[in-house]
This record gives sequence, C-alpha cells and structure tokens, in this order.
Amino acid sequence: MKKNSYSCICGNTINTANFNDGVTPFMIHCNVCGGSARSHFFSVNQNLKPDLYWFSPSDKQLKKQVVWELSFCDAKDVMSAKEAYKLNKKHVGQGGLVLAPDIKTIKEWGL
Ligand SMILES: [Zn+2]
Repeated sequence: MKKNSYSCICGNTINTANFNDGVTPFMIHCNVCGGSARSHFFSVNQNLKPDLYWFSPSDKQLKKQVVWELSFCDAKDVMSAKEAYKLNKKHVGQGGLVLAPDIKTIKEWGL
C-alpha cells in the first residue's frame, strides 16, 4: 500500500495508506485544530504505520463513511451528513478515494 503523510502547521501529522488505487486530495482537515493538513505527495518513509486508510467506497459504504468523517474532523456543526455525502459522492465519481480509520471498518461499512 502506498503511504503518504499530511502535516498541519499546528504540528499534527496524519499518516495514510492507499487501500485502493485512486485520487487523494492534497489537503485534508486536521483532526487536532480543524485547519488544513498538507500532503507530502507520497515522499515519505513507506514503512510508516498509517493512522488512516484511503479507499474507494460503494454507495452503502460512503453513507457510513461521511458520518465517521464528520465526527473524526469534529465538523458535525459545519456540515450535515447529507452535504458531506454529496461532496464525497462527486469526489468518488471523479476517481477519488475517501478516508477510513482502518481496514476492518472499511469491511464493516460494506456489510
Ligand atoms: Zn492542525
């Protein structure tokens, strides 16, 4: 799995792994300060232990994913699950991947 890291100016770094192939954004929400964490464009130690996984969701998985993502980013007051679903659905339709906390959860979301 391809590894990447996203760093925020608050000092937080989020390590990710690509469970599927696809497009990942160059910025993600920092789960510590709510700011923007920027991609290292895969120029990181590939032995990193991932905090989060990028995957290509089914529609069923995406509905559960957005609820988790809003809670993870503490963005429940910023955006509704319906709005987040619309945004992520568009992103996925363009070949984009979305985040999950671990591979076990990706499988559970698909059940
Ligand atoms: Zn931050």
